[in-house]
Order: sequence, then structure tokens, then C-alpha cells
Amino acid sequence: MNPLIQRLTESKTEPLPVIVDSKPIEFWRCPHCKQEIHEKHMYYENGVDYHSDCKGAIKLPPTDWSKISPEWRAILEPYIKESRGTK
Ligand SMILES: [Zn+2]
Repeated sequence: MNPLIQRLTESKTEPLPVIVDSKPIEFWRCPHCKQEIHEKHMYYENGVDYHSDCKGAIKLPPTDWSKISPEWRAILEPYIKESRGTK
């Protein structure tokens, strides 16, 4: 049988076990304590970011503005420029 026709005619009423799958998730790991840097576990002082769990100074990756919608960009950009200062 043609595989396309077979696909169109095969029954989907039989319950099948779901496929348990996973996808990679990107997260930030502290270069000092090697732990995951959780949200809000950072602070900013004298122009440097710190991991608040171990007090290690860290450099954050640049913000990828292309992934942020224009509405949010308009809201966030002035705030970030202000809090980070302009260097
Ligand atoms: Zn740390």
C-alpha cells in the first residue's frame, strides 16, 4: 500500500502510550560556584553583576533583543540602559 494512503486511512482511535521526550533547556551556570543561577539570584553593584548565592562577580550575556517583542523592547530598553549605565 502507498505509505501516504496508509497514513491517511490508519485508525487513530486506538489509545497509544504517549512518548516521553525531553528538550534541552538553556540556563546560566555560575563560573564561581558552578551552580545554576536562578532567577532573581543576582544583584548589581558598582557596575558589576553578582551571583547572590556565592557573591561571585559575573558577566551576563548580552541581551538578545531580537527575541523580545517590540512592545516589551520599548518598555524594557530604557530601564536597562538606565540601570546598567552607559559605557
Ligand atoms: Zn555562584
